[in-house]
Amino acid sequence: MSIATTIESVQTELKPIGVTLVAVSKTKPVDIILEAYAAGQRIFGENMVQELVEKHEALPKDIQWHLIGHLQTNKVKYIAPFVSMIQSVDSLKLLKEINKHALKHNRVIDCLLQVYIADEDSKFGLDHAELIELLRDDSFGELQHVRIRGLMGIATNTENEKVIRAEFYELKSLFDGIKTSFFRKDATFDTLSMGMSSDYQLAIENGSTMIRLGSTLFGKRVIKHFKLNHGNN
Ligand SMILES: *Cc1c(COP(=O)(O)O)cnc(C)c1O
Repeated sequence: MSIATTIESVQTELKPIGVTLVAVSKTKPVDIILEAYAAGQRIFGENMVQELVEKHEALPKDIQWHLIGHLQTNKVKYIAPFVSMIQSVDSLKLLKEINKHALKHNRVIDCLLQVYIADEDSKFGLDHAELIELLRDDSFGELQHVRIRGLMGIATNTENEKVIRAEFYELKSLFDGIKTSFFRKDATFDTLSMGMSSDYQLAIENGSTMIRLGSTLFGKRVIKHFKLNHGNN
């Protein structure tokens, strides 16, 4: 199937259930991204800051770029002018840095808090206690240039569906709990980003509102690059 056909069929599946597709284009060249763009795809996810910046410069300006990989505080400045959403916020320090640079550009940057749900050591993210601590911190309320849109999580890389289901269920429960206790008045706390190529059906069954698909849309990535950044595949 061509990229366009795949995108169209996934979008047809997602539209009626209100799930948003992030096309994960990391390691893929711009001509491939343009194929997806021509098929109507506008939200793309990247996990490396430099790659994200270069692609933003090279590609149409109505693309909404999501950062989905670990972000170092000293690199926030490069993406703050244009990034549409940062899905991988894993500390208050990082959130404050994003706020600072968003202010400089007179923007409000949408963020997701990344929660650690996998049964693996190599993943980034906040655990439950850290998440609550962040939300309760006095300085959190003063951050006027970031908007917390929801949570993001990555399930364990396993064939065992039971494990994956349990992790997605846990993240959805956490999302609901946090929405009620911390964001009751914020209709914009509405995004639960969970599900990748191998597990997005399970994620949707468990309440995902945003899936991040790479290999399903674009084919396999060069393993070396992926390993370098994730160490889990
Ligand atoms: C690479 C990546 C994806 C997409 O992975 P696929 O298995 O190719 O769909 C999704 N989310 C994150 C955080 C990633 O790093």
